[in-house]
Amino acid sequence: MVVRHRRIPYVILGAVFALWCFPRVASAKVPATFSEGMASLNFDDGWKNFYTNALPLLQKAKVKATLYPVSGYVKERRKQFMTAALLRAVEAQGHEIGAHTQYHVLLTKVTRQRADREIRQSRQDLEDLGVRSVTTFAYPYGVYSRRLRGVVRETGYSGARISSCGLNSPRSDRLLLKTCAVSRKMKVARLKSWIDDAVREKRWLIITFHDVQKKPRRYGTTPNVLEEILKYLKQKRVRVVTNSQGLQIINEIRLTN
Ligand SMILES: [Zn+2]
Repeated sequence: MVVRHRRIPYVILGAVFALWCFPRVASAKVPATFSEGMASLNFDDGWKNFYTNALPLLQKAKVKATLYPVSGYVKERRKQFMTAALLRAVEAQGHEIGAHTQYHVLLTKVTRQRADREIRQSRQDLEDLGVRSVTTFAYPYGVYSRRLRGVVRETGYSGARISSCGLNSPRSDRLLLKTCAVSRKMKVARLKSWIDDAVREKRWLIITFHDVQKKPRRYGTTPNVLEEILKYLKQKRVRVVTNSQGLQIINEIRLTN
């Protein structure tokens, strides 16, 4: 009995210590999932047919997308790509415009100076062309390195996207976000299964599209497929966010945990 009585203060002390510690231990841990699954629709390279073929479908579905135009193509007013005026109009509708280098180079195959310029100047180019808020970046071909990630961070981008297919979580590296890219031959069922995974696992799916036209290029999509995806997102009540909104959700979770 004496031993037991002597233990009591230790038990109390232990309980107090545990209570004091627990919130700290719990808060040091960023959750592995979001409160619900979410999706982003990205359109890479700034194809003009985004404006004619994809934008009306997005408007109808009331969904905001993230576009990654190649700034040099816009500056040179290349025929197949969106002009600065179109990009400004798209941004004014609430869509996000991010940077995707000046000339879509393989960043690991050019000189360091060139790679750095491509990352930094593409943002500047878009801003000079009147895009108001360029905060995210997409590595061309998804090719990156530790050094390039550092340049992206130093340039002040809040997030960047690579190209391996997978889902993102609040714990993801914000400068190496994953995406699943759509190509011409992919079955709609496969795209829907990505969405199902994001909903089930409460993670963030970024889907990347390129050109949108009836006869798409190899990595393009038909307007019909895009429409099916939009319908499916609505049917499954998936929250659709721009990349910068998704990043902001991650930031908020990290700040409060
Ligand atoms: Zn690209």
